[in-house]
Amino acid sequence: MTWKTVDYAGWGRVHHANSPVARPERRSALAQLVENTPAPAIGMRRSYGDACLNDGGRAIDMTRLDRVLGFDAESGMLHVEAGAQIGQLLNIFAPKGWLPPVMPGTGFATVGGAIAMDVHGKNHHGAGSFGCHVTEITLMTPKGPKVLSPSKNATLFKATVGGLGQTGPIASARVQLLRAKGDVMIVTERRVEGWDEFLALLDASEATYSVGWLDATARGNALGRGILEEAETGAGLVPPAKRGKRIPLDAPAFAVSPGIVRTFNAAYWRRVPDKGRTVVKPIDDFFFPLDKIHDWNRLYGKTGFHQFQCVVPIEASAALRTMLDRIAGSGLASPLAVLKRMGPGRAGMMSFPMEGYTLAVDFPNRNGADRLISELERATADAGGRIYLAKDALAAPETVRAMYSERAKWAKTVKAADPDGHFLTDIVRRLELRST
Ligand SMILES: Cc1cc2nc3c(=O)[nH]c(=O)nc-3n(C[C@H](O)[C@H](O)[C@H](O)COP(=O)(O)OP(=O)(O)OC[C@H]3O[C@@H](n4cnc5c(N)ncnc54)[C@H](O)[C@@H]3O)c2cc1C
Repeated sequence: MTWKTVDYAGWGRVHHANSPVARPERRSALAQLVENTPAPAIGMRRSYGDACLNDGGRAIDMTRLDRVLGFDAESGMLHVEAGAQIGQLLNIFAPKGWLPPVMPGTGFATVGGAIAMDVHGKNHHGAGSFGCHVTEITLMTPKGPKVLSPSKNATLFKATVGGLGQTGPIASARVQLLRAKGDVMIVTERRVEGWDEFLALLDASEATYSVGWLDATARGNALGRGILEEAETGAGLVPPAKRGKRIPLDAPAFAVSPGIVRTFNAAYWRRVPDKGRTVVKPIDDFFFPLDKIHDWNRLYGKTGFHQFQCVVPIEASAALRTMLDRIAGSGLASPLAVLKRMGPGRAGMMSFPMEGYTLAVDFPNRNGADRLISELERATADAGGRIYLAKDALAAPETVRAMYSERAKWAKTVKAADPDGHFLTDIVRRLELRST
C-alpha cells in the first residue's frame, strides 16, 4: 500500500496536519493496513477542528471504500462500506422511497464519520442520532475484523459509536433506512420574532424535520429572531437543483465583517413573508443547503473559522438566551447560526446529544473569538450541557471531561481495544480524552 505525505485540515481550517496517508480501495487492503501499520481512519474531513487530524502520524483515508454491499428493498436495511457519503446514499435511495435515517447538515460526511461522531440531524427530536439506526458495525482491528452490534460486543459497540475512531477503522455497517414519501421536501418557513417565541414553536412542532436559523446579530427585543423551517418528505415536481458554485479564493476579512453580516441577516430574515410560506424543495437543498457552494469555508479567509456548538437541558434554556445575547453583543457572529430542539436519542458513551436545545454559531478566527468561545464553553458547563467534539478546536481537557459523564468508562474500553494508542488523533491528545 502506498503512503503519500499530505497537508490536510479540518473544515474550519484552524488546525492543520502533515501525515503519510493511505487510501485503500478494498477491504482486504484495509485489513492488511490495520494489521501491519494500524492508524486512525479519516473520512471527508467535515469535522471542523482536529478530530480528523493526526499530525506527524499516519492516517487511513476511507473515502474509496464507498460501496453499497447489500440492500433489502422490503425492510430498508442497508449494508454499506464506511467511506460512502450520506448525500450519495440519499441520491441513490430517496427515489426508491428510503432515506438515510439521520443526515447532518452536509451530505459529504461519510457513514464512518457519521458513526464515529454519532451525528444528529433535523429529525433528532424524533429519530435520535445516527447510531440509533446502526444494527451492526464491522471494525478492523490489528487482529482482524470484529463484528459489533447493540447485542454482540455491546460495550465495544457503544464505545465505537460516537467514539471518534478510537476503537479502530470502521470498514462497513448495517444501517436501517427510514421510509420517505418521495424525493422532495415540503417545507413550511415562518418568521420568528424573538427568543421565547422560537422555543415555544420548537417545543410545539410536530414536524418530522425542524430547524431554526437565528439572526445572531439581533439584540434587544429582536434577540433570538429567525426563521423556523418544518418539513416532511413528499412526492411531486420541482425545478432541477441549481449547479454548485465554488469559492475560488480565500475571501478577504471584510467578507464576514460585522456590518455585512448584520445587513445580510436582516435581509435574509425578511425574505420569508410575514404570514410564512410553504415551498417544495429538492431533497438535498433542504438537508444540505451549504453543499451547493463548494469550499464555502474559504469565505472566512486563510485563518479559517470556528463553530461553537453546545446543547443544554430544557430547563437551562435561560442560559442559552444569555449566551446568544453575549454572542450578539460581540460583533463576531457570522450568518451561520442554528437552533434546534434535541430529543434524548444517543447511541454511544461519547455521543453529543442530550434532550434540550442545541445552538451552533460560526465565528471567523479573529481577535476575540477564542475568548468568547471559552466563555461560552464555561456557560455551557454551568448549565449542565456539553459541547460537540465534531466542531471543537479550542476547548481545554478539564472542561470537556466534566461534560461527558461516561468518558472514563469509554477510555477504559478504548484502552482494552487499542492498548498501544495506534488510533490516537490530535483532538484526543489535546483533550486527553483517553486518559484513565
Ligand atoms: C456544513 C456542515 C454541517 C454539519 N452539520 C452537522 C449536523 O447537522 N449534525 C452533526 O452531527 N454534525 C454535523 N456536521 C459535522 C459532521 O457531520 C461530522 O463531523 C462528521 O463526522 C463528518 O464526517 P467525515 O466523514 O467528514 O469524518 P471526518 O471529519 O473525516 O472524521 C470525523 C471523525 O470520524 C472518525 N472517522 C471517520 N471515518 C471513520 C471510519 N471509517 N472508522 C472510524 N472512524 C472514522 C475520524 O477519526 C474522526 O474522529 C457538519 C459539518 C459540516 C461541514
